[in-house]
Amino acid sequence: QAQREKQLKDLYGILDEAARFYQQQLTQHPQRDSAVSYLKGRGLSGQAAKAFGIGYAPPGWDNLMQALGADKQRIEALEQAGMLIHNEERNSHYDRFRDRIIFPIRDMRGRVIAFGGRVLGDEKPKYLNSPETETFHKGRELYGLYEARQTNAQLQRLLIVEGYMDVVGLAQNGIHYAVATLGTATSAQHLERLFKVVPEVVFCFDGDTAGRKAAERALETTLPVIRDGQEARFLFLPEGEDPDSLVRTEGRDNFQTRINQALPLSEYFFRSQTEQADLESMDGRARFSTRALPLIRAMQPSLLQQMMLERICEITGLSLEQINSVINLHQVTTD
Ligand code: ATP
Ligand code: MN
Ligand code: MN
Ligand code: MN
Repeated sequence: QAQREKQLKDLYGILDEAARFYQQQLTQHPQRDSAVSYLKGRGLSGQAAKAFGIGYAPPGWDNLMQALGADKQRIEALEQAGMLIHNEERNSHYDRFRDRIIFPIRDMRGRVIAFGGRVLGDEKPKYLNSPETETFHKGRELYGLYEARQTNAQLQRLLIVEGYMDVVGLAQNGIHYAVATLGTATSAQHLERLFKVVPEVVFCFDGDTAGRKAAERALETTLPVIRDGQEARFLFLPEGEDPDSLVRTEGRDNFQTRINQALPLSEYFFRSQTEQADLESMDGRARFSTRALPLIRAMQPSLLQQMMLERICEITGLSLEQINSVINLHQVTTD
């Protein structure tokens, strides 16, 4: 136990050293110009880069290993931390992040737990993240949450976006309360964590097919966890835009207005459900209700759930008793 704690402490220590190393490279490495001009080209200020601890992993296979891997034990620790990749055939190690802009990912306490790295051009993969390690559990962590709370200890709402650059771009434009899931879908664990911090979350994914799919999935993840007193809303961006691109072109106030007008969960739910059925016909209303009811039933017992059930009653013209009797009958016969 004590040994495990020491190991963990060493892990956090080495991740912190790595973050410092990358930050230093952005200001000191002989080939830093390409990284600096890339960031400038994207409109990033030095201040924003500093606030998020953005750094640069220079080109080459062993910059980090040379700087931090003094002995076998340190190399092993760097590997455990996800910073080195082990080549089994050659029995050697090399840096995971090479020639990339580096975004340190912090936990709620501000400890560096992982990194994301972006290529400077259009090469693939565009982003690379640390693997799952003892300190990094992707389905739980949110990029930018620590930084958001640093800026404002009394946060009232958080914006959930897709990417690193969305979080950083929004913050630079005065919207300091965005967090990003890290290339994974929003999980129930994410939401539980967020609702411990704020009563309101606004989903704001990219204005493309993937972003709209992500919103659908976020809706289905949110329904079973949301409670009265908590709010989830959905902001849809114009086609081809993401939060970073949009806040840069239209500015903070316009973007803020969009946030204020984001669709409440129930409205988005009924809109997306009714888009898939023709409510003009009885058949369509039955189909719609059959799809919507299980999702509403999966919700926490709440006023919101009750009101959404009422809405189904309005749409179908049936009472709750009538609906229940059919559904219960159905359940009995299919069990
Ligand atoms: P940029 O503006 O820098 O081009 P983006 O943040 O808009 O990038 P998207 O393609 O919209 O990039 O992806 C959103 C997020 O999804 C990224 O910030 C990253 O966290 C994650 N992601 C994207 N591509 C990958 C990938 N190939 N591997 C892992 N994660 C990825
Ligand atoms: Mn090894
Ligand atoms: Mn994007
Ligand atoms: Mn982008």
